[in-house]
Formats: sequence, structure tokens, C-alpha cells
Amino acid sequence: MGATWSENKMTVPKVVFRYSFVYDDAWLMAMNKKLKTNGNKESLKCSKSIQKKWDKIARNVLIRMEKISGLEWQVPYLVCYLVNCCPRAALSDPLTIEMMKDENLVIAILIHELGHVILFQNRKILPTNIDKKYGLNNKESRELVATSIQKLVYQEIFTAKTSKRYIDFYKRWDIYRKIFRIIQKEGAENIIKDEVKQWQEKNSK
Ligand SMILES: [Zn+2]
Repeated sequence: MGATWSENKMTVPKVVFRYSFVYDDAWLMAMNKKLKTNGNKESLKCSKSIQKKWDKIARNVLIRMEKISGLEWQVPYLVCYLVNCCPRAALSDPLTIEMMKDENLVIAILIHELGHVILFQNRKILPTNIDKKYGLNNKESRELVATSIQKLVYQEIFTAKTSKRYIDFYKRWDIYRKIFRIIQKEGAENIIKDEVKQWQEKNSK
């Protein structure tokens, strides 16, 4: 990669929240929902307020994610779109999160999505045997590793009570109930090591 930004390691990516009416409207239409009055204005206000909240913890979270995953951020800048609705509350690419009343929850969800982002920024060879090992399909195994990173970040930055509250939010979906059962049994650290070590071995060949 040459003398890139990531080798200099001066900084972690700046996550910039953005509200795009065009993108939001596309999701609203796709999900058959309607924007409330003044939704556009409220959404812009919401993105500013989340930005302020995130900026206070961003560096701490992003550096921890590198340490937890053993990987490095590969870009200096990430845009996170805020929308009124999207499937399962968030997407990792393009990074997108549903706006909610509880802005701390939005940030907790962002941490999960960033788990996917640091993984796919570094993933050069697919797939590993992690899906077979844990009896998962491809999507579930991607969730397993990202969610393991999410869980460890939560442990380091939130109290046990807060961490549980955000994990419980995810447990409304079958897939995450399954994932958290595996994490509980195998340990988040072991799952991450297993996956990342396999990529590194494959990439060094
Ligand atoms: Zn996910």
C-alpha cells in the first residue's frame, strides 16, 4: 500500500453523520413508510446532535476496535447515513443507521456496524472455515465476528448494565440470539482470533 495513512497511524477515521433526503426517501418508499411533517428538518437536527455525542467517544472506540480485532482502519473518513427507516435498524455498507429517540442506542448500533466495517476493510481472502466450525451460514458467520467485536467494545466502554441493555436490543432478532449464544459459549476473543488469524495466514501465503 506504500506510505499510506494507515501506516502512519496518525489518526483513526473521522465518522461523519449525514442526512440525505434522497437516500432516506428511497428507504421510506421501499419500506412503504411515510415521513412525519418536518421530518427533513428534524433529521438534520438529529444528525448534528448524534455527531456531537459520537465525537466525544469516537477516538476511544475506534482505537479499541483496532486492539480488539488486531486489525487497522484503512480509511481516514467514513460517512454514516442517518435515515428514518431501514431493514434491521442499520446497514454496514453504505454505513446507515435508523434515527431513534435514544441517541445513545444509535451510537451503540454504530459500534456494531463499525465491527463489520473494520472486518471488511481488511478481509482480502474469503472464506474462512469459521462458518463450518460454528455451524453457521455465510451471513451468520459475518455477524458472529462483528458482534464479537461489538460485545468486547461494549464491555470496555459501558457499564455491565448499559452493555446488557444494548445487547438485549439485538436479541429481538433470532439471528442475534443465536450469535450471542455462540459468543457466550466460545468467547468473543477466541472467535475474533480464530477468524483474523485465518485471514492473516491465507494472506501471507
Ligand atoms: Zn451486523
